[in-house]
Amino acid sequence: MSRHPNLQDESGENRARLPRRKVLGGLAAAGVASTLVAACNDKTGGNASSGGGGGGQITTDNTVKGATEATKAANKKVMDSLPFNERSDFEDARRGMIARPDTLTIKDANGNVVWDLEEYKKYIADDKPAPDTVNPSLWRNAQLCMEYGLFEVVPDKIYQVRGYDLSNITFIKGDTGWIAYDTLISPETAKAALDLVNDKLGHRPIVAVIHSHSHVDHYGGVRGIINQADVDSGKVKVVAPQSFVEDAVSENVIAGNAMSRRAVYMYGALLPRNAQGGVNGGLGMTVSTGVPSLIIPTDIITTTGQKMTIDGVDMEFQMTPGTEAPTEMNTFFPQFKAMWMAENTTNTMHNLLTLRGAQVRDARIWAKFLDDTIRVYGPNTEVKFQSHHWPMWGNDKIIDYWKRQRDMYKYMHDQSVRLMNEGLVGSEIAEEMQFPPELNNFWPDRGYYGTLKHNTRAVYQRYMGWYDGNPSDLDDLPPQAAAKKYVEYMGGEDAVLEKAKKDFDDGNYRWTAMVLKQVVFANPDSVNGKNLLADSYEQMGYQAESGPWRSVYLQGAYELRNGVPTAGGTDTASPDTIDAMPPEMMFDYLAVRLNGPKAAGKKIALNVDFTDLKKQYGLTVENGVLNYSDGLLPQSDATLKLTKATMNDIQLGKVKLADAISANNVALEGNRQSVDDFVGLLDTFNLWFNIVTP
Ligand SMILES: [Zn+2]
Repeated sequence: MSRHPNLQDESGENRARLPRRKVLGGLAAAGVASTLVAACNDKTGGNASSGGGGGGQITTDNTVKGATEATKAANKKVMDSLPFNERSDFEDARRGMIARPDTLTIKDANGNVVWDLEEYKKYIADDKPAPDTVNPSLWRNAQLCMEYGLFEVVPDKIYQVRGYDLSNITFIKGDTGWIAYDTLISPETAKAALDLVNDKLGHRPIVAVIHSHSHVDHYGGVRGIINQADVDSGKVKVVAPQSFVEDAVSENVIAGNAMSRRAVYMYGALLPRNAQGGVNGGLGMTVSTGVPSLIIPTDIITTTGQKMTIDGVDMEFQMTPGTEAPTEMNTFFPQFKAMWMAENTTNTMHNLLTLRGAQVRDARIWAKFLDDTIRVYGPNTEVKFQSHHWPMWGNDKIIDYWKRQRDMYKYMHDQSVRLMNEGLVGSEIAEEMQFPPELNNFWPDRGYYGTLKHNTRAVYQRYMGWYDGNPSDLDDLPPQAAAKKYVEYMGGEDAVLEKAKKDFDDGNYRWTAMVLKQVVFANPDSVNGKNLLADSYEQMGYQAESGPWRSVYLQGAYELRNGVPTAGGTDTASPDTIDAMPPEMMFDYLAVRLNGPKAAGKKIALNVDFTDLKKQYGLTVENGVLNYSDGLLPQSDATLKLTKATMNDIQLGKVKLADAISANNVALEGNRQSVDDFVGLLDTFNLWFNIVTP
């Protein structure tokens, strides 16, 4: 998962409408580990429109609607087709419950709420049936994810705190202290979880933290439960898989701005908390909003079968790189016959490609590693637990579960490739593909996070890329130019709207979403076009089984009705993450900020000397690109001497380079103008680019 900058959407009026691709002033949000705040006023002004100004006879308005008859029917069909009377997940989600506070709202030192289940409790509960605006299967997942508190997984040995963040934090009792597995997103939520454990089970020190993989919901809270001094003195070990830090800081840097903007859609953090808004994130309720931290590991795990004993607890690791994260590992606890599955098997279908954007994952490797788990650790496993959702007990049940998780990925991989080899393109494969009943009706294989529809297209993408082989799609017109011609050919906006309204009334939302996109892109001022498109997205959101799909549609509807939100206060990227970023990664990021057309014809050579790292680099701008190399250039326009900490401050936006030079935090030798010219060539990215309008 990724995070995006803190925002508060207060006025609801006159929000910025930024042309896409137009990059404006402001600080680059490096995407990494910045925070978000859910604060969306559910804007439901009138803004009705009928006749005139586009739209023929149809009448629309921009209010939030209830479920249509078509949506009610679609959700009823889900209710009738899945085994809702199978309740063992509810038993497992509650099993071993030791304690839970009556209310759960966690605040930071300044009193800001970083986690709150109370707003969900108002409308989500076990005894409340699914509203007609929510897919009943997603509702079931939300009910399960609301089972929060401290739970015993293995008597007197393994405990989990669940529902304190998107992810779980696990505590394993050693001879003298706790070994903590994965540390949530925010230091505040991790600390609250540790406090609950110490309060209910007796105070014990943390002797080790183990991070299963490089996603922020598995390490961000680390400074809430341990401190750097105890790590430095050797009192606390921090264990992680190979290339953990590199992957943790790199995944969202280069494409950070685009991913962060799309994360607003995927996680639905701005949606109101009600039955017409955010319901569940798929992996958990939602993300917490503290500032994530990172501590560099002391011990690195590199190979499957590697063993380690900490505080009397024996562990054997299974490396699973390239599955759910670039670096990830499972752990077997032979003394407890317990298998920790990291995020390789949870109680949902996972993503092969996240909707915020990421590099596509490999379903074939994923299935292979799960097969290894079954063969190597299966015979001795009596309980399996993981970083999201609830555990499972009993060898037979676990083996059956693992096989169905393995084969969910295997089936979507093999059958997508089969259909690809038969000539189908991504959208056709997604339409064609159905799981056999033994996978389809198995609750942990349902698509609360990933979906079969977008994962099959991800398999196609992994092998074939964006081009579907049809010559018409090789040099197609971009969306706005194409939309103008489509609408013209279809008889103009009014004619399209009239037909679209009929399709909307018939419940053909997938089609109206497609055709009304043409209306809105041809004429972004079409009020009826935007309102009816928003209504279409909304019904698709109400029908979606996947938390991210629901969020995507409802955020799209929101922005069509109210415009693009503006950042009320962009939080800076997490200092720990920037600090862990090597200079090379920062230069790669600078290179993608270089405006090529502006840089054309320019030649600039700069030396950068990190006095504390004792490392020098040469940067050159030539041919419209920025290159860098180790060591000083023999001839340069200027040399900058600074510490990495100063570079971090510049990257974080705490200080401008020019001010750092003036304050003598950066020593400059040579031609000052060349440095100013270089900075002038760098674009800064604005998070709030348009998505549902041109
Ligand atoms: Zn996770």
